[in-house]
Amino acid sequence: MPAFIVFFGPPGCGKGTQAKKVTEELGLVQVSTGELFRKHLGEKTPLGIKAQEYMSQGALVPDEITIGMVRERLQQPDCQSGVIFDGFPRTGDQAKALDALLSELGGKLNMVIDFALDMNISRARLMGRQEGRADDKPEVIEKRLNDHAKVEASVMPHYNAQPGLVRSVDADRAIDAIYQDVMALVKSTLA
Ligand code: AMP
Repeated sequence: MPAFIVFFGPPGCGKGTQAKKVTEELGLVQVSTGELFRKHLGEKTPLGIKAQEYMSQGALVPDEITIGMVRERLQQPDCQSGVIFDGFPRTGDQAKALDALLSELGGKLNMVIDFALDMNISRARLMGRQEGRADDKPEVIEKRLNDHAKVEASVMPHYNAQPGLVRSVDADRAIDAIYQDVMALVKSTLA
């Protein structure tokens, strides 16, 4: 049975970097809704153009669009090896929809890894980010940080209600130290 894992944490916590490293190492698939939206935008698909209205404001793209995009991605055969979700779910309804999508695939969510990082450190990291993303502007960063608190309040009760599902890692450390912990946790779901 493939592993399905959510990487959860504030913007700038490094979950995308870790998801990339872990999926490459273990042959799993990284499903990052932010990256999927940026890809759609780059290809100027109708979905990408629609999503851009929200992304440029640092607002969440509506659930219907986001869940539809994830559903489509999960239907691709590579996802059968297992998936790490990065930046999804961001609402309680997305979390419930993910449970339903995984059960359609005959699977379930195996683990939520919570990347714990103080908001001030998160802000400092985003300000220093060199990727030149359109939503890494100071005023948008502030909004994304505030929104994360709402995201957490919306998503985590769903997961915290399931004993043992959520595992926390201290994300205020060097990438390699975090990687060791994350790898051990992910591997434990594959055993
Ligand atoms: P990220 O790369 O995860 O920071 O996402 C960049 C932007 O894409 C976010 O600020 C949102 O506008 C949009 N986005 C990414 N994931 C989601 C999601 N799960 N639900 C709604 N909007 C999302």
